[in-house]
Amino acid sequence: MPDLSSLPLRDSLRGLSPYGAPQLDVPYMLNTNENTHPVPAEVAEAITARVAAVAGGLNRYPDREFTQLREHLAGYLGHGIGPEQVWAANGSNEVLQQILQAFGGPGRTLLSFQPSYSMYPLLAAGTDTAFVDGGRAEDHTLSAEHAAEQVRRHRPHVVVLASPNNPTGTALELEVIEAVYDAQARNEADGGHGAMIVVDEAYAEFALAGTRSALTLLPGRERLIVTRTMSKAFALAGARLGYLAADAAVTDALRLVRLPYHLSAVTQATALAALEHVDTLLGTVEAIKGQRDRIVARLRELGLHPAVSDSNFVFFGRFQDAHAVWQALLAHGVLVRDVGIPHHLRVTAGTEEETTAFLTALEVVLAEHPAERPAEPSA
Ligand code: PMP
Repeated sequence: MPDLSSLPLRDSLRGLSPYGAPQLDVPYMLNTNENTHPVPAEVAEAITARVAAVAGGLNRYPDREFTQLREHLAGYLGHGIGPEQVWAANGSNEVLQQILQAFGGPGRTLLSFQPSYSMYPLLAAGTDTAFVDGGRAEDHTLSAEHAAEQVRRHRPHVVVLASPNNPTGTALELEVIEAVYDAQARNEADGGHGAMIVVDEAYAEFALAGTRSALTLLPGRERLIVTRTMSKAFALAGARLGYLAADAAVTDALRLVRLPYHLSAVTQATALAALEHVDTLLGTVEAIKGQRDRIVARLRELGLHPAVSDSNFVFFGRFQDAHAVWQALLAHGVLVRDVGIPHHLRVTAGTEEETTAFLTALEVVLAEHPAERPAEPSA
């Protein structure tokens, strides 16, 4: 590791570690919640054709407004959302960064509820936004009362709610989002300032039946932002395309901070081709949900405690030494995620074969590292 201490680094970045999920070459890579199914050949061909069609014009900057892409994304989202309400960037990470550049910054606060997606504090540091952790219940759930109370107490400028949450995988009741939204409105009514409420729905397409999207809450809530990505259900993590839906004024605000022509012509062409083949691309979602449910059921049989999952991954415990289990699974060629939460691990639901490999390896590993018995309510 190079020594950064001699550099005139910003104080807010000192001592931080960069995002660093291991990228190891192992047979079963189940640690970053990608869709592990390859892009279907038909869609890969359509992407190739669309990219070929723009290649000769790469001497020119792309459409800065990615007009066609915004129209297609609005059509995909539905809920009466118009293209002027849609914004996109290179992954939802960049979308979140732009939100913080516009609405966070020095002297401002981002409130989130840990454990949650590890990039939120890093994005706050990168934009010099103070990060406040509102915390969760011991079982990692988040109640409307607690979340709203934290908004009232900390008076943040931006709130990020991941639904479903990462690493736990469980979606929020819409009542939690409504309560948080109302709390920021009360802060403003009391003479303070309101907040932008961001609901990160990166895994929305994997929701359990009956789970409702925050997109349904957008009408009449001009401070609400719902972010999505093509990295998960769409099996396009390598293309880097994240997007959001919000009031049209929000997309206008983000134009102030985006870099000119931030979405390359190649990215736009790729995403357009994907959106023209939504049904084929999302064809693996039901199979992945089936493997996810299979993992949850089997882990319970094995005496473990998996959290309810609305996503394509499962968070589970308890182990005496989760890192030792992570290491032992790796020795079997299975890479899962040690998210740093004691006694717990997270695994991506992949293909049937990958799931079988994970469950088979886990059974062997459990012989050496038995599940911890202490009573924990299985979520
Ligand atoms: N939000 C959550 C909750 C995530 O888990 C991830 C990816 N791990 C992202 C956002 C960012 O994804 P991307 O930048 O690929 O859209």
